[in-house]
Amino acid sequence: MSDTAAIYTVAYILISVCLVAPPTEFVSLGLTVQNVLSGYLGSEDLNFIYYHIKRTTATLIFHSLLPLGYYIGLLLLSDKHTNLADCLPWKLDIYWQLSLASCIIIHLAAVTLALYWHRKKWSNHPIARTLKYHAPSGSTWMAMASSINVEFRRIDKFTTGVLGRRIIVTDSWIMKTAAYYVHIAHQQDIHLTLTGTEEHDLSHESYHGVQYLNITVTSINSHVNPFVIRLNATEYSDLKEKLHSPIRMARDVVIKQSLSDRFLDAFKKQVDENDVFVKPPDMELEPCIGCMQVTANVKLVKLCDDLTEGDCVPCYCRPMWCRECMGKWFASRQDQSAPENWMSGKSPCPTCRARFCMLDICKIV
Ligand SMILES: [Zn+2]
Ligand SMILES: [Zn+2]
Ligand SMILES: [Zn+2]
Repeated sequence: MSDTAAIYTVAYILISVCLVAPPTEFVSLGLTVQNVLSGYLGSEDLNFIYYHIKRTTATLIFHSLLPLGYYIGLLLLSDKHTNLADCLPWKLDIYWQLSLASCIIIHLAAVTLALYWHRKKWSNHPIARTLKYHAPSGSTWMAMASSINVEFRRIDKFTTGVLGRRIIVTDSWIMKTAAYYVHIAHQQDIHLTLTGTEEHDLSHESYHGVQYLNITVTSINSHVNPFVIRLNATEYSDLKEKLHSPIRMARDVVIKQSLSDRFLDAFKKQVDENDVFVKPPDMELEPCIGCMQVTANVKLVKLCDDLTEGDCVPCYCRPMWCRECMGKWFASRQDQSAPENWMSGKSPCPTCRARFCMLDICKIV
């Protein structure tokens, strides 16, 4: 092999790897199959399942052209073929002809597979077949697909990762996209196990170490193969919120929570230790105005000192906040550069601005 051919081979392999398993930089530049073909693929938001059926098929065909591309480049570079007429297939020697045949066979095989997938409105595609196993008897894979499409359109889904390697959790499904496939499992059927963590000491995103979690998703549905989802530890609490089932921990795994998660845990513990506020019978409790999800469940009562002593001021507001939102509010009023002082800090009441401390937050019973 000549020097030029060797350089070409290395360069071609590098570019191919970037196309098949694009690094994040490539994806953010838009150099992916789905961006190039966005017109054909349609909108992921409108029709999530069809979009990925088409995307995986297009990816397969595109990748099957890579050997042929390599062959053509090598042919043009080789010393034997100085003018284009020498490159005609019937003028080549037997090795070149055999290689050309294999490249074409690889591509034709991919096209045949794609045509097979496409038959009967895509119902032979692996994604459609997986959905068929999820469909209750009497229902079709298309009914499952439209239920996923509807849930995918909701804004409260959990997503993380780059396009083409994304984790999506909707109200009843957990999915992971891959180059030729989308893993799909029904939330009711799954067991999740945190199987390992990876630590990266330095990243361009933060000065602190970054921790990634590997969570294995196994389904009681025997047609669904287990798959691993990988996410940043700081996204763990958002993921848990969207899941119906708990995540089992393998032994020795410690999750490094984000600073605000750790503070919220300590905050809740402190509130649990404080005195409680007994709700008078005539007091009506409304939903927390921070999250509108839970009933207001904390009241500020000055307990840290005598009523007229110290820095804190009594608050006479009716309960309007839940413990979690009060914790977030408290954290947001602290010096963000000195988290070690947060537990001993003070905050104004979100409504009347009366100053309070951690000891003045009472759970309502
Ligand atoms: Zn709240
Ligand atoms: Zn107040
Ligand atoms: Zn106080």
